[in-house]
Amino acid sequence: MRTSEFLSEVDRYSAHNYKPLPVVLEKGEGVWVWDVEGRKYLDCLSAYSALNQGHRHPKIVAALKAQADKITLTSRAFHNDQMGAFLRKLCDLSGMEVALPMNTGSEAVETALKVARKWGYQVKGVAHDQAEIIVCENNFHGRTTTIVSFSTEHQYRDGFGPFTPGFKAVPYGDLQALEAAITPNTVGFLFEPIQGEAGVLIPPPGFLAAAQALCEKNRVLFMADEIQTGLGRTGKLFAVAHDCPKKPDMLILGKALGGGVFPVSAMLCSKQIMSVIKPGDHGSTFGGNPLAAAVGIAALEVIVDEKLVARSAELGVYLIKKLRETLSSSPHVQEIRGRGLMIGVEIKTSSGKARAFCEKLADLGVLVKETHDQVIRITPPLVVEREELDGLVAQIEKVLF
Ligand SMILES: *Cc1c(COP(=O)(O)O)cnc(C)c1O
Repeated sequence: MRTSEFLSEVDRYSAHNYKPLPVVLEKGEGVWVWDVEGRKYLDCLSAYSALNQGHRHPKIVAALKAQADKITLTSRAFHNDQMGAFLRKLCDLSGMEVALPMNTGSEAVETALKVARKWGYQVKGVAHDQAEIIVCENNFHGRTTTIVSFSTEHQYRDGFGPFTPGFKAVPYGDLQALEAAITPNTVGFLFEPIQGEAGVLIPPPGFLAAAQALCEKNRVLFMADEIQTGLGRTGKLFAVAHDCPKKPDMLILGKALGGGVFPVSAMLCSKQIMSVIKPGDHGSTFGGNPLAAAVGIAALEVIVDEKLVARSAELGVYLIKKLRETLSSSPHVQEIRGRGLMIGVEIKTSSGKARAFCEKLADLGVLVKETHDQVIRITPPLVVEREELDGLVAQIEKVLF
């Protein structure tokens, strides 16, 4: 089949909930992917940072295959011999005490919301059903009905009400607004350390540290959604560490935790906070399954063994500098910003939307995706080589002049 036939098949049989670039991929390896026409592309989206370790990392694929030959699913009705080792590794690496494993990012966010509420009632003493959670404007935390209840994006909510109450949104980076929003019923502040979907928005210096102190003072859980920013993407293992000297109260992970092969997510916190969850309170049939746990162990080992955090920091500085130098006189570029290998190139509104530039880049063998109309998000796998980034800059230069 040719590209057009694949496209019409999908067009005919699938829901139209995405608008993908018209590229049909059939193979991936490291930072490269190939389409059904045999064309090769540099993957600079990395499945929204779920592919930090690159496509089909041999160690992760080997762990997947080995575990598939033993046992893949037990449910949590029984124990399996992989989950404990996975959660231990995750806690050791993150410095958190305990973890609750789930599958998708949205489920880990839902877990955080439920645990924060229950903690609010049982530990903080908030009256029944009065718990409030503060979020940021332009947030992205997933697509469940509760999560879109506190989205400020019209399209994410339109037609999906009635919504879950108990959420308040404040402008991202606005400490005074956060302070004003806190009441005795506030149990948590949920945020992204860098807003990815909103266009790679970095909070003002000092904001997160001050927000953390404010939360501590008011007994409000400081809940970091690092599903996209975590596991090395921004040049630190977790992006909160750029700003905050202390660990967050809750750390929410997903995406790259599954090494690009399997959905694996988790919510991590202290033993004390997690202790509000009792048998039967919360769960997931596939959460903590042995296949996911084996993959998760390998995914974390690759990040550590291949020093992907340091690579991301070093290559990020290199790429941002090179993009700024190369594109400084581009008539189309408004701003280039980022941390580590999480970079946004904002296109001037007078130059039209970012989508057209992404389409041109695909023709030149670079896959990126626009986010929020004006921003080209550049997030290659962290295993990328310097020379490959040079090639990327050369292609971007062609489309932005
Ligand atoms: C992708 C993402 C989610 C949702 O994860 P899913 O696996 O798509 O459910 C939540 N928060 C952030 C910051 C994300 O980037």
